[in-house]
Amino acid sequence: MVRLRLPGGRVEPRVLTEISSLAARSGNPDVTLTSRGSLQLRGLPDPLPRELVAAIDRLGLVPSGEHDKARNIVADPRPGLDHLVRELDRALLADPGLAGLPGRFLLAVAAPGGPVLAEPWDVAIVADPLPEGQNSSLDGTARILVDGRAATVAREEAPEAALDVARRFLAARTDERTWNVRDLPETGRSGLLPGGAPFAVGAPGPPVPGPVGEDLVALVPLGLLTPTMAAALGAVHVNAPLRITPWRSVVVGGGADRAEELADAGLVTTPDAPWTVLTACAGAPSCGRTATPTRELARAAAPFVDPAGPPVHVIGCDRSCGHPARSHATALNPTSVADIVAAQRSPLEEDA
Ligand code: SF4
Repeated sequence: MVRLRLPGGRVEPRVLTEISSLAARSGNPDVTLTSRGSLQLRGLPDPLPRELVAAIDRLGLVPSGEHDKARNIVADPRPGLDHLVRELDRALLADPGLAGLPGRFLLAVAAPGGPVLAEPWDVAIVADPLPEGQNSSLDGTARILVDGRAATVAREEAPEAALDVARRFLAARTDERTWNVRDLPETGRSGLLPGGAPFAVGAPGPPVPGPVGEDLVALVPLGLLTPTMAAALGAVHVNAPLRITPWRSVVVGGGADRAEELADAGLVTTPDAPWTVLTACAGAPSCGRTATPTRELARAAAPFVDPAGPPVHVIGCDRSCGHPARSHATALNPTSVADIVAAQRSPLEEDA
């Protein structure tokens, strides 16, 4: 398996088409969208073909071996945040010391009250999205959020301020199993954000599929982007990158009038589909930890799941890979469609 980390989920349509074509030539043709707004290629030969490694390198998606694990940036899919995402990624890659961040450490860039704030980030930059056409200004202020506290900094200093928190986290980390800020003892967490004051974070649910103004939110069922979907997204001619979200959807700037053709390709472009609440881990046969074909069962259950009900996540073991960050029901090792439908009516797991 190869992880392709897209800072903030931003990817050019042309690059997405190339990634899909690489997947089709090298292993499983479906590209997996992750809960971190990145992509995975699966079912690849071991060792990886030299052609594949060279092609990924050419696309610039793994900028250096050292930072392969430490490039986790999730972001609200607002174009006015693109510059902050780019600056944060640039500053992250410029510091070799930050390559030591654990692979699970998550940086976030969000608008005030943006949906990405509901994700399990470690450090977040919160700033007003820039108006259209002002995509490189770093005037104004931003907030740095860590562990229920916030500090205000100049917007242009926000990327370094967030990375200073990451550096302090590395210094306070006691062992290899300390993956996230929440794993640190209280004494280690308290010094991460000097001058920070208590701050309550509120966030809405994920954007629902469908047009949003001139843009379109297109959901990818089970997070599996087929070659047909990738080709349809690649054929949308827009002057902005596509935005892969942590909710297994793609925001297509200026794509509202393309909803029908993207739906024909298999993407979900209306809010009333069961895939807005139904997710599954990889399960059998891809994962050796279970004999439960989670995705196959989820597909069979889709017509019977209540799109207006709570989210339900189908899993083959208690690792619960890829579970939604929001409260959800769990179908553990279901043997039938009825088990999944019943699970949706059961008590919910707490937010991540
Ligand atoms: S939850 Fe368990 S069965 Fe499912 S992909 Fe993860 S490890 Fe495999």
